[in-house]
Amino acid sequence: MTSLQIAVRKNDLLEITIEDIGNDGQGIGKYNGYTLFVKDTVVGDRVQVKVMKAGKTYGYAKLVEILQPSEYRVTPRCPIADKCGGCQLQHMDYQKQLEYKENKVLNCLTRIGGFKDIPMEPIIGMDQPYYYRNKSQFPVGLRKDGKAAIGFYAGRTHTIIDTEHCYIGAKVNDDIIKFIRSFIEEYKIEPYQEEAHKGLLRHILIRVGFHTGDVMVCLVINGNKLPHSQELIQGLKKIPGMKSICININKEKTNVILGEKIIPLWGEPYITDYIGSIKYRISPLSFYQVNPIQTKKLYDLALEYAGLKGDEIVWDLYCGIGTISLFLAQKAKQVYGVEIVPAAIEDARANAELNSIKNTEFFVGAAEEVLPNKHRDENLHCDVIVVDPPRKGCDQSLLETITAMAPKKVVYVSCDPATLARDLKYLCENGYELKRVRAVDQFSHSVHVECVALMSRVDE
Ligand code: SAH
Repeated sequence: MTSLQIAVRKNDLLEITIEDIGNDGQGIGKYNGYTLFVKDTVVGDRVQVKVMKAGKTYGYAKLVEILQPSEYRVTPRCPIADKCGGCQLQHMDYQKQLEYKENKVLNCLTRIGGFKDIPMEPIIGMDQPYYYRNKSQFPVGLRKDGKAAIGFYAGRTHTIIDTEHCYIGAKVNDDIIKFIRSFIEEYKIEPYQEEAHKGLLRHILIRVGFHTGDVMVCLVINGNKLPHSQELIQGLKKIPGMKSICININKEKTNVILGEKIIPLWGEPYITDYIGSIKYRISPLSFYQVNPIQTKKLYDLALEYAGLKGDEIVWDLYCGIGTISLFLAQKAKQVYGVEIVPAAIEDARANAELNSIKNTEFFVGAAEEVLPNKHRDENLHCDVIVVDPPRKGCDQSLLETITAMAPKKVVYVSCDPATLARDLKYLCENGYELKRVRAVDQFSHSVHVECVALMSRVDE
């Protein structure tokens, strides 16, 4: 047994100073050299904590009292910020949040990627770090009093915290949820009970086009039909901007929110919105960036890093509804997009047409299959490859094809700095160098950070 194990035990009450913030937003402090993670704390806080779990080298503790608040501590606007799983950093000054996120990217590139002298540019923060989300997904459950709970999951659990108002969601959400609560009550719609996998209404998905004002409501149900849907439509239609009301069928016992089948109830089966001058059609099942203002900055940055002159062939992998592809198409000769969700590709093609953009072509399939196959069969030439993968990053086989195709530039848009660092390391070991990297805050008050990196071929 080491002296560290003796030093800290479960249920100990200790006083520590928070010195750092971990990847999931927990404060990190030391007691006699033993590391403790404490939720809801900020660098500089002097706190009393209770040890909840003590492992060999580190443990977890609960905040009992703030003895001396940090200069970076602020009072969260949201009264349930500490319970709700959506925001982890509302108690931290926004500038400090940005610093934390930039450091997170730097740390990953250093530790995982092995990079030195990183060409990091200053993080692009938000001017208004509240009410920025154009998409909200509210889980519905059963409260102890038999009424519906509609809100958000508490951190790391599926306990639903009833919510009247979310400070990062669109303001129109309140009226929609209020009406749906009364609808559920009046027509005895049974909320879903996850454990027992029974009940009807599982989730409420709301999407808002920030530039057009279009609103979409999609009710996810564990069944084939929503009773009294006419009454639902009558009520929702009165909400300003309402353009699309639909049902999504999800009868699986799963954590995945949306099923595959959409049944339109009223209005259009999609909404439209703009990013810059490009108009996008968005279906309920398609991925669309949740923070439209920062997305414009993100795409402008990707376009700047791509440095297009007009004669380039560009591939946009993981293209969603063609958002980045259409941005790039304005400056390139030809853009090819690849995306795994068929509905998103339908949107991408429709979006190209909607904007009279003729130099794009879209393919459905996994990037790690489509690109290697195309390259093998057609020996493709390409100048720039843009990738924007989900958190797990790119498959090794895709990275191999990218290096075999040897484009002059690879622009990597990432929502997870750890997998970004891993993938950039591979590219650097195979003929590329890291030229520029910059984080963009798309999700204030959460620990997530988006960033863009430019890799150039070394022999250019
Ligand atoms: N570039 C788009 C979407 C980025 S999100 C935008 O900015 O809006 C990542 C996208 O990758 C999602 O649309 C997801 O459906 C898609 N995706 C996930 N795995 C994939 C894979 N293996 N191949 C291609 N696309 C994939």
